[in-house]
Amino acid sequence: MKYISTRHSSQGAGETLTFEEVMLAGLARDGGLYLPLEWPRLSTAEWSAMRGLPYNEVALRVMRPFVAGTFDEDEFARLVADSYRTFESPEVAPLKPLGDSGLHLLELFHGPTLAFKDVALQLLGRMLEVRLAARNRRAVIVGATSGDTGSAAIEAVRGKRAIDIFMMHPFGRVSEVQRRQMTTVMAPNVHNIAVRSTFDDCQDLAKACFADLAFRDRHSLTAVNSINFARVMAQIVYYAWAALRLGAPDRPVAFSVPTGNFGNVYAGYAAACMGLPISHFVVATNRNDILARVLADGTMATAVVEPSLSPSMDIQISSNFERLLFDLYGRDGKALAAAMQSFRATGKLALGEAGFSSLRRLFDGDRCDDEETVSAIADCHKRYGEVLDPHTAIGYAAAKRNRRDPAIPMVVLATAHPAKFPDAVERAIGRRPELPGRLADLMDRAERVDGLTNDVAALKRMIDERMSAVQPARAPRR
Ligand SMILES: *Cc1c(COP(=O)(O)O)cnc(C)c1O
Repeated sequence: MKYISTRHSSQGAGETLTFEEVMLAGLARDGGLYLPLEWPRLSTAEWSAMRGLPYNEVALRVMRPFVAGTFDEDEFARLVADSYRTFESPEVAPLKPLGDSGLHLLELFHGPTLAFKDVALQLLGRMLEVRLAARNRRAVIVGATSGDTGSAAIEAVRGKRAIDIFMMHPFGRVSEVQRRQMTTVMAPNVHNIAVRSTFDDCQDLAKACFADLAFRDRHSLTAVNSINFARVMAQIVYYAWAALRLGAPDRPVAFSVPTGNFGNVYAGYAAACMGLPISHFVVATNRNDILARVLADGTMATAVVEPSLSPSMDIQISSNFERLLFDLYGRDGKALAAAMQSFRATGKLALGEAGFSSLRRLFDGDRCDDEETVSAIADCHKRYGEVLDPHTAIGYAAAKRNRRDPAIPMVVLATAHPAKFPDAVERAIGRRPELPGRLADLMDRAERVDGLTNDVAALKRMIDERMSAVQPARAPRR
């Protein structure tokens, strides 16, 4: 399979890359995002044959076409098995009906850091380590997190010899549990940075490191936030897994997805492109509702990021939306590059009639403020006895309001364990959910973190210094 950048120049059809190159690079050198030149399409018979198979088996069949050429089947099967052995549910992602409402919860939070990001990152960490070791290379991960990516990425690479990770989070804007899940990891290859600014600024700092090609090459920078296509790939699997359980490919299924950076719901779109019958997606946002607004009126317009009860969705520039825009712009990388540049400059992008109606065929948008989030947690608890985290609660509230056809089952992606956000849950149901056993002592562990202002030069200096100090000590042996 060949991969291209969303901003490739159309002359000469652009440069194509392999899966390994895409995984190691993260962000494309031209500032775009990588995606497949063509989506692999599975036949109805191929989807049907997956029904009833265990999660790992579905995972292999869905991901096989994407990784062919980088991993052979046995090696990849081993990486998948190792990755999902870290999950506390034998099913990996249990699917639970909510009474007979036609709504279902897909629990994606049984991994080591209790959020759906483990599903992709446990696999990505292993894939990176194997390929780097094979090439006798090392890499530096630079990332930005609004909460859950950071801990999931750190957990995925902690202690790995070939990888260092520098993870930025917005100071004071992630929950205490989220922060501690990052800052209590004492492995020498883990570097936490608290930036006195917003998540979007953290993301810009990371992007600026990648834009400096000399710096990027000096450290073999790679990104594991949701712009890395390997993460999208791993997330396609659970859309297939859930849909197959609910009658696909003979019956369509809808999904409601708590959305921030648009990585999760984009993976659902990819599943639809692969031939899975998905009737539509509900893009559920909190008060930072740029995506709900673009789905309402076809204009993408940035606003100031405001903190909310669902911090992992406090985002106003959803990076992965560019991948969808690529299709809305007829896969014309040059036109998209120009559009993104003007969006950067003006904070506005109008989709136009054709783009907007094509977007609305498959996507509905909705938003929930904090008050609605709390009442959704209370409502789901009262009706079905399920305790939701605030992100999932937004997906649940939006799902109830956006059934296009009540006969079509709708899956709400449960993206975090409620114990990660005890304050919001307590407000809703009057008690704090307990942390699962493996994190029970989290609040007592020591923390380690560096502070930084929103200054790219200072960030680069920090990375240069740390890497020159640690490199000889932890270089892979020849
Ligand atoms: C990251 C995250 C989201 C948002 O997912 P995107 O892929 O960024 O849209 C939603 N909920 C939780 C709990 C998250 O950690």
